[in-house]
Amino acid sequence: MKFGGTSVEDAKAMERTAAIVAGRRKKGLDAIVVVSAMAKVTDQLIAAAAAAGRGDKAGALALSARLRNRHIDTSSDLLQQEQFAEMHAALHTEFDSLDDLLRGIAAVGELTPRTGDLVVSFGERLSSRMVAAAFAQRGLNGVHVDARTCIVTDANYGKAAPLETAIEAKLRELVLPLIEAKQTPVMGGFIGSTVDGITTTLGRGGSDYTAALVGGGLHAGAIEIWTDVNGIMTTDPRICPDALRVKSISFEEAAELAYFGAKVLHPATILPAVQKSIPVWVLNSRNAENEGTKITAVAPHCRNPFKSIAAKKKLTIIDIVASRMLMSYGYMKSVFDVFDRYKCAIDMVSTSEVSISLTVDSNERLPEICEELAKIADVKMEGHKALICMVGEDIRGHNGIAGQVFGAISHVNVRMISQGASEINMSFMIEEEDVEEAVRSLHRHFFADPDEEIFDVTARDVARGQVESKA
Ligand code: ADP
Ligand code: ASP
Ligand code: MG
Repeated sequence: MKFGGTSVEDAKAMERTAAIVAGRRKKGLDAIVVVSAMAKVTDQLIAAAAAAGRGDKAGALALSARLRNRHIDTSSDLLQQEQFAEMHAALHTEFDSLDDLLRGIAAVGELTPRTGDLVVSFGERLSSRMVAAAFAQRGLNGVHVDARTCIVTDANYGKAAPLETAIEAKLRELVLPLIEAKQTPVMGGFIGSTVDGITTTLGRGGSDYTAALVGGGLHAGAIEIWTDVNGIMTTDPRICPDALRVKSISFEEAAELAYFGAKVLHPATILPAVQKSIPVWVLNSRNAENEGTKITAVAPHCRNPFKSIAAKKKLTIIDIVASRMLMSYGYMKSVFDVFDRYKCAIDMVSTSEVSISLTVDSNERLPEICEELAKIADVKMEGHKALICMVGEDIRGHNGIAGQVFGAISHVNVRMISQGASEINMSFMIEEEDVEEAVRSLHRHFFADPDEEIFDVTARDVARGQVESKA
């Protein structure tokens, strides 16, 4: 059971989390709990590390002081006197060592990726200790496990890759005995360590990934991702408040959505679950009664071509024009090698006789990448682009879908189009400023008549009922 930042954002949220876990245990189920840092804490730790890296010691320490107070206040609301005294002392010790670290970074005036990971790891280290203590106090036999003892990774700081065989062995050695003793292990997501014990992180949103690694490693009966929405929705409800819950979606569809921007799941989460055929559920910790979304191996047939629309911002299009060389043997390789060297992932590619256009996440190394590419071609870079990805296995059975998609957004300038070989997604690039409007237009068009077997229409019906009764 993984609880995201909003599910542990304050003492009330942690209480709800404890009640949800208690419900599972009452049914005779064993639970391993993975928690994120309290909401926004990771952002603030990144800001503190960056301030220290600029030499702004006072700024870094001020951010850390705010975090110290928030954790202490939350613990005081959450824990009884005796447990609070213990936690209070532990939090001071941890924050003292965070402050030492920030002073060190500020003194050197340089923030390395390795030290950055150590700073941000405090978020999950602290939240997991607090949740474990809360569980212990509420009869759930909560016991804290430092995730860095089990989640073994390579040394690619900032986005470390897990070493699954080593993780499985560690989980069997350290976590399984706790389960057998009817305890509830609580560990932080997102963080890990190298074989040499150096702290790493799995990349933003990585707590979902930790949950899948733990669930996969111990062959769990299910992996539950508890968050702040009712499940995977037909699009981000922040863009489209009338988005509907998708009751059931396939691994393949969920993976495409996650990869192309639906923040509700980390893109790598699905893999460990697929490998072991473990069902994944996305559930709402603020509305635990809701059925959520079940992610399964096979998608049930759906009358609508699409299940969901994802959008990803802050992308850059790179146009590479090489009039003579493009079709020559090995040319594509030389282009992709440049991206490889900078560990820069490419989202979408389209080619013509003389040009290649590709899209990448905006990052600070792009100028260097373009400089290298300029040695073999004419290069143009355009930022502030966004990708919209429409996902659904049932596109296959529908004719004229592309016409409908582009008809629905005929007022928007579309830059690049791709229909994946998997035939379950249709993606295209537009200007960042057009995203919200385009998603809403597409949502209106494709979910006007939703298949009630697949989409939960009750919320929409309730809303309509309210409007009608007002009228
Ligand atoms: P957590 O902290 O629990 O990991 P996240 O903020 O990472 O939560 O992910 C949940 C958020 O993902 C939701 O609040 C929602 O705004 C966003 N989101 C984007 N696309 C979707 C989608 N298709 N379905 C549901 N939520 C989505
Ligand atoms: N706390 C980390 C983040 O904000 C990991 C996570 O929440 O999944 O990215
Ligand atoms: Mg998340």
